Amino acid sequence: MNSQQTKFSLKYKIFAVIFFIQLTVISIFIYAFVKSFKAEKLTAAYESNANTLSLIKQRLESKIILLIEKVRSSTDLIEKNQLNASGLIETLQQDKDKAVAAVYHFEDKSDSPGQLLKVQQLNKSGFPEMTVYLTQIYKATESQFPYFWNFDYQGKSYTGLGFSLNYNLAINEKQMSKKHVFFFFFNQAELFTFKNSGGVADVVIYDKIGKILFSESDIDPDELRRFAKKSIFQSAVQNKNILQVSEQAMGKLKFLVSVQAQPLGDLVVATMISTEAAFQGVSKVYIDAIYLTVFSVLFSYFLASFLSSTITSPLRKLATQMQNISKGDLDVVVDIKTQDEIGVLASNFKQMTLDLKVSKQDLQNLNRDLEQKVAERTAQLEELTIKDPLTGAFNRRYYDQRVTEEIARSNRTGNPVGLLYLDIDHFKKYNDQNGHPEGDQLLINFVKTLKSVIRTSDYLCRLGGEEFCVITVDTPLQGVEIFAEKVRSHIYATDFKYGEKQPLGRLSASIGVSMYPQFSSDPATLMKSADEALYRAKQGGRNCWMLAEKPMSAAVNDILNDITKKKVS
Ligand code: GH3
Ligand code: MG
Ligand code: MG
Repeated sequence: MNSQQTKFSLKYKIFAVIFFIQLTVISIFIYAFVKSFKAEKLTAAYESNANTLSLIKQRLESKIILLIEKVRSSTDLIEKNQLNASGLIETLQQDKDKAVAAVYHFEDKSDSPGQLLKVQQLNKSGFPEMTVYLTQIYKATESQFPYFWNFDYQGKSYTGLGFSLNYNLAINEKQMSKKHVFFFFFNQAELFTFKNSGGVADVVIYDKIGKILFSESDIDPDELRRFAKKSIFQSAVQNKNILQVSEQAMGKLKFLVSVQAQPLGDLVVATMISTEAAFQGVSKVYIDAIYLTVFSVLFSYFLASFLSSTITSPLRKLATQMQNISKGDLDVVVDIKTQDEIGVLASNFKQMTLDLKVSKQDLQNLNRDLEQKVAERTAQLEELTIKDPLTGAFNRRYYDQRVTEEIARSNRTGNPVGLLYLDIDHFKKYNDQNGHPEGDQLLINFVKTLKSVIRTSDYLCRLGGEEFCVITVDTPLQGVEIFAEKVRSHIYATDFKYGEKQPLGRLSASIGVSMYPQFSSDPATLMKSADEALYRAKQGGRNCWMLAEKPMSAAVNDILNDITKKKVS
């Protein structure tokens, strides 16, 4: 973008913000979803438990509890001599329930307690002599009746149920107590067909003291027995028919357990669903969440890229244009037409460059004017240093400089330098008669007149007062003499104001003429010789010009040259 690198690019800032927002939203969503999902699963698991329980309850009621009720009412009839033992057998046989493998009816002998009298065995296949076996069970477990126990016989599993019915009767005004004892043998395969119920719940049936009568669970039997010691089990036994639910640890696993005790049969049924199985879908939710997060990261990255590019690309354009401006190129094209803040920035920027362009043009114009003025002033100053302010002729300083340079040039080229030394005649008088201002005006007009006759290559200088000189360049002596006469006559011919008042009837000037190198050897002698010539012109009556006299050495040289020429000839 520029020589200055961005430390934290806009893109990553936007990305971070979007990503943070997305992550928060996703987290909240997953938390809420999993929570409701779990609650739903939990409810479903407990419902499944409850359904299984009610199914078992129905089966048990139809097979055991109703049977017990029937026996109870039948024995009642026996006591009232309304039903004899064979009648009871008939009643029980009417059921023809496959689950009932055998029914034993004993009477506890009042004369020899603990001795049971076999009344009837109902199964057809027949069990071996059971009297001794059942007497032992009765003696050992009488206090726990109704008593359930499991046993295998000839490869089949049976559940035994023993219960007793006590009666206090007054027969012939004699009080006596009677006890009927019943043992039922149930085919477990017929009794507990819960596996076919299709539910996900494991079924475990306990008796009220926590002995396992039936289990189809894979859970370690020790864990199941330990469960019967827990408060939930005890509470189910105490609050018959009330469903108890809770989550229980069985070894390393956790289970959602429902327990309910049956009202009459003293059976406690527990149904269990492993928490893991219940919450099976939850892990899928987490996996989906990972996919969602990955997708969201990618999405937010592209969104950030897009957003940042819509912001940074116009900024980058502006930055490039700024660089161009800093290099002096004000012909910038700001091609940003968005209506947002950046668009406003771009339009302001455009206006700024236009203003800058105008300012730059103004500055350039000012600069040019200034340069022009400086040049003019410099020229004026230069003129002031070399010109006489009154007449505009070159001044004395310029004369000195010019004459030195021209002599040097003459030394290189061999061309002579001529000097006309002019002095206005009777100028003092002119001043006296016409006033000093008129004298000044005359000097101005005098210079104008002189300028009209001299060449542009010649230099007219005012040496001071009414004394002037003209330096001639590359003009031989003869030409200088003609020029001197031309100047003199032109002055005399010109009608200067108040010229007629002058002693000669017109304004005139006297001229001393000298040359380098013929009449002088340097600037000083050139001036001196011209001055002497002027003096002689004044002496000679004024309004005339006089040629300088040759210096002695030059005159001697001439004479010697003449003598040599004559000798040769
Ligand atoms: P001559 O013919 O011998 O040259 O006579 P002259 O009166 O010109 O004598 P001189 O050259 O000595 O006098 C010069 C006079 O010029 C003196 C002064 O009054 C006058 N003068 C010198 N400079 C200026 C000037 O700048 N303006 C005016 N108006 N007069 C000047
Ligand atoms: Mg003079
Ligand atoms: Mg004079």
